[in-house]
Amino acid sequence: QISERLKKIASFVPEGSVLADIGSDHALLPIFLAAQEQIASAIAGEVNEGPYRASCQNVRQHGLGKVIDVRLGNGLSVVQQGEASCITIAGMGGSLICTILEEGKDKLKGVQRLVLQPNVGEEQVRIWLLKNGWYLEHETILEEDQKIYEILIARPAISADELRLNYPVTATLSHQLTLTKEELLLFGPYLVREHSEVFLNKWAGELRKLGRVMDNMANSASAESIEKRKRFEEHYKRLKEVW
Ligand code: SAM
Repeated sequence: QISERLKKIASFVPEGSVLADIGSDHALLPIFLAAQEQIASAIAGEVNEGPYRASCQNVRQHGLGKVIDVRLGNGLSVVQQGEASCITIAGMGGSLICTILEEGKDKLKGVQRLVLQPNVGEEQVRIWLLKNGWYLEHETILEEDQKIYEILIARPAISADELRLNYPVTATLSHQLTLTKEELLLFGPYLVREHSEVFLNKWAGELRKLGRVMDNMANSASAESIEKRKRFEEHYKRLKEVW
């Protein structure tokens, strides 16, 4: 049985894809998809020996050795250019996801969809996508075992104009709140509009964390911490409005 999080990620992999799942761990995602004949084939990439061996064994046990190729290596180095039509990178920090994408840029030619699930640093991933011409097609958010996960789905943008549709300089929400591009990058342009209960829970949690950080800073009078606190306070105020 795989987690709801992985099932949700799987649901965004187009049928018939040649999938590259980078940081595959035990290859659970490609095995789930291959067992249901949802994909043509898959590459399960892993940088660490332990998970790589576990993946090999798992794929063999499921009799999927002909469909899933398990490869040992860093990020997208395990993929040939033009080989994969869909890439999934899940369960790691946003900055690591960005590093993998950045270092493997040449391998992204021909890729039709990216399905990314950063554990933290979603904003950084959105910024990378925007800078590198990937149009955000959809976003979703889910809660499992008291953890909240965001999933970002992107495809190559047709034009720079199309990219601008993701992040208009300001966007007005249903409750008459105008958001800047920076705020849309932080909250997620789809998620903030959808305003789901999970989204609200996530930012309520972030607000509590921010409140605690500000309390801890209250005793320090250095110019730097006063400045920092001011920035936090502004951020806090905006969060409260969105929330
Ligand atoms: N993708 C799976 C999921 O979402 O459940 C596994 C997530 S697991 C927490 C992260 C995996 O990424 C680990 O198995 C780790 O070894 C692997 N990893 C970390 N950095 C990597 C890199 N640069 N290239 C390939 N794999 C990497």
